[in-house]
Amino acid sequence: MEIRFEEAKQLKEKPDQKNLGFGKYMTDYMFVMDWTVKDGWKDARITPYAPLSLDPACVTLHYAQETFEGMKAYRTKEGKIQLFRPQMNAERMIRSNERLCMPAFPVDMFVQAVKELVKVEREWVPSEEGTSLYIRPFMFATENALGVHMATSYKFMVICCPVGAYYAEGINPVKILVENELVRAVLGGTGFTKCGGNYAGSILGQVKAEKMGCAQALWLDGVHRKYVEEVGTMNIMFKIDGEIYTAPIEGTVLAGVTRDSILHILKDWGYKIHETHLAIDDLMKAGHDGSLEEAFGTGTAAVISPVGELVYQDDAVKVNDFKIGKLTQKLYDYLTGIQWGNVEDKYGWTMDIDS
Ligand SMILES: *Cc1c(COP(=O)(O)O)cnc(C)c1O
Repeated sequence: MEIRFEEAKQLKEKPDQKNLGFGKYMTDYMFVMDWTVKDGWKDARITPYAPLSLDPACVTLHYAQETFEGMKAYRTKEGKIQLFRPQMNAERMIRSNERLCMPAFPVDMFVQAVKELVKVEREWVPSEEGTSLYIRPFMFATENALGVHMATSYKFMVICCPVGAYYAEGINPVKILVENELVRAVLGGTGFTKCGGNYAGSILGQVKAEKMGCAQALWLDGVHRKYVEEVGTMNIMFKIDGEIYTAPIEGTVLAGVTRDSILHILKDWGYKIHETHLAIDDLMKAGHDGSLEEAFGTGTAAVISPVGELVYQDDAVKVNDFKIGKLTQKLYDYLTGIQWGNVEDKYGWTMDIDS
């Protein structure tokens, strides 16, 4: 794929690396490519980051035909810049698009687009401990018409922003509200895709959780509201009696790249893994009788987020005394070690953008 480059007249001032936050500072450039029924994918370009002009009848604004991905570029101590399993994001986006009747963006083109944009923006990849360049590929329908149907034109884009250390003050466990009323996904729906609509529908759960002094909502299955599925933007795992439990990937839960990586590592470390429907009642019981040893969320942004307390209806249970568990910490150190190039990458998961 040939990528046209359009130079920016002026570059932005880089923000203070100690104060990046998340998703606040966009870089100088973006990747754009268009799809039409007639021509397929065409005109790959890296152009100055700028607002888009959309027709008010653009179908995406009405029917949310939109999918996205989330990944990072990491700067190693030697100054190399590496991606983490980018093909998995590309493949997941193809599955999301298939469900939303959107055209596939081929894996090799996806990886090339991300690599080339990060190469152009290499100065934006921060070097402070724990920081990275967050990469947001996304696609949406650009047809202007108010009918609900498969659109005849789409845009694929990639934007990036430097992000701060998720745990600026050290890893702190969080309190999680088990949502027993609202649901996020059902079998046959779009739960397994990263589409904007899923998140629009989940914000009320997040608002409720925050009102209760919790950081996130834990979603139960959409039919019985009985089995544990996942947290807002993270998969979730539990260590009960020395064994690992997490929801299976069957159509409602997002197949996280971090989830897959952690399960690989845990298998190699000899842990027994149950990808199964864990009932919330059994989980709370395990919390009360002490067999629930650790709980943690997994996702690209935080990598691993320890759960310190679960609140369910009028019951609450602390996990590991609201302290980060031994295994949780070990997994965090090992996986972030691979991502930032401080631990040997024996799985071949990292990709040097210059290789
Ligand atoms: C993105 C996301 C995850 C985590 O996926 P990663 O690939 O590990 O970042 C988990 N659950 C939901 C709902 C998500 O949107």
